[in-house]
Amino acid sequence: MSQVLAPPGRPHGAPAPSPAVATGRARRDAVVRLGAGTGLWGALLLVTYWWAAGGGVQDLTGWSTGLTSGGRLLGLLASVLLLAQVLLMARVPLLEAAFGQDRLARVHRWVGFCSFDLMLAHVLAIIWGYAAGQVTQVPTTAWDLLVNYPGMLLAAAGTVALVMVVATSIKAARRRLRYESWHLIHLYAYLGVGLALPHQLWSGQEFLASTVRTVFWWSAWGVTMAAVLTWRVALPLARSLRHRITVTSVVQEAPDVVSVYMRGRDLHRLGAEAGQFFGFRFLDGRGWMRNHPYSLSAAPGQGTLRISVRTAGDGGQRLRRLRPGTRVLIEGPHGRLSARARTRRGVVLIGAGVGITPLRALAEGLSYAPGEAVVLHRFRERPLFGQEFQTLAHERGLRVVDLPGPRRTGGSWLGVGTPPMDDTTALQFLVPDIAERDVYVCGPAAWAADVRRAVIAAGVPTQRLHIEDFGG
Ligand SMILES: Cc1cc2nc3c(=O)[nH]c(=O)nc-3n(C[C@H](O)[C@H](O)[C@H](O)COP(=O)(O)OP(=O)(O)OC[C@H]3O[C@@H](n4cnc5c(N)ncnc54)[C@H](O)[C@@H]3O)c2cc1C
Repeated sequence: MSQVLAPPGRPHGAPAPSPAVATGRARRDAVVRLGAGTGLWGALLLVTYWWAAGGGVQDLTGWSTGLTSGGRLLGLLASVLLLAQVLLMARVPLLEAAFGQDRLARVHRWVGFCSFDLMLAHVLAIIWGYAAGQVTQVPTTAWDLLVNYPGMLLAAAGTVALVMVVATSIKAARRRLRYESWHLIHLYAYLGVGLALPHQLWSGQEFLASTVRTVFWWSAWGVTMAAVLTWRVALPLARSLRHRITVTSVVQEAPDVVSVYMRGRDLHRLGAEAGQFFGFRFLDGRGWMRNHPYSLSAAPGQGTLRISVRTAGDGGQRLRRLRPGTRVLIEGPHGRLSARARTRRGVVLIGAGVGITPLRALAEGLSYAPGEAVVLHRFRERPLFGQEFQTLAHERGLRVVDLPGPRRTGGSWLGVGTPPMDDTTALQFLVPDIAERDVYVCGPAAWAADVRRAVIAAGVPTQRLHIEDFGG
């Protein structure tokens, strides 16, 4: 293990928010998180109240009326969650900043499975209820509902689309699919949600019972659709057109890593911070439609952006061949692995492999005094950005701890070169006051999970632990 203890130096890099400003933003984000949770639970309680006020509970006393009434409630809850699920992935800036995209994706997955289960239960209960509670009548009733009730054919098509999305999102199925195929199928979720809408608005008793309820549901659908169109389609397009980003050069950093340097107009207006990532589409020919998330590997400078990418896959290989002048479409900036999440002056940045990229940008973009920022850098043979870290150590007092070698066995996040101590003890040995610091972690998913365990065991509360994994 080599360790560089650097002398104090002058501040360097793009202007960064001070910890006080960051703490203010952390408080605002906490308020947004509370508001979002309250809003969702509030909407679920409100539709349940409307259902109960409309006689839903009394109807539960009979078998077939109970099935229909219970089915209606299940449908209402499923609808609220279905909309919440779409909204969670609409890239709404307030939600993105408050939760971070990976946390939103986790909640989206959970809400998605819940809404899907409720939707299936709703379909079964309603059909069974309309069949007067007799199982033998279910097939003919289902057919009758399908062909004679307004919007039902569309709803059935929507259900099929959602079944396809959920089936391919189950972990075992997802592992077998190429990312691109899974992603394409996932877009059918919008179709599924859209096709379910007419039967609710045309024939749903709960939707039409009063003007307030009709306004509530139309607004909920309208706001969700507007959010998707604004933040997933219009804003990325407008930003890409406005900033006219192009590739300036591609530089080899390591045998399997290249850095892509880009420039554009008024990039400071993007509001990007060190540690964040963008979705990138390089307009270099076939396959340009694929959007790949890459973190900035340097603090965003005056009119320039830099990403550093492992060239193992198809997308990475293409970057090797990019020519200067290639136009770039962007989506973002995204992510909370930035000064926004910071609550303390002391920070520890723990990265492995190409996961060191956003931490390299943070080491440049964060404000800190000598000794306040420490980098624990895991790599096999040669450190990525070794020279740049040395410069930051000399100029700004960044403490850099290299942790080389292949990974130890038995679920350890450390390298074989580390002294023989357990993960948590090693962490406390390397950074004795780690429990008093914010900890930023980035690397492969399984490795990041091992670091998380050790960091929490070392006494760091989860709200001061900021993790982004690159998948894999
Ligand atoms: C927030 C975030 C930031 C990232 N930052 C960096 C970075 O700075 N440098 C870097 O080298 N890598 C980064 N990655 C990982 C990088 O996005 C994927 O490795 C890359 O998209 C894989 O595409 P490929 O065609 O090169 O490889 P493939 O061999 O096609 O894919 C390898 C695996 O990557 C995942 N993947 C593929 N395409 C995508 C996609 N469009 N979006 C998300 N995951 C995908 C899938 O799980 C797939 O199995 C980041 C990932 C995330 C989520």
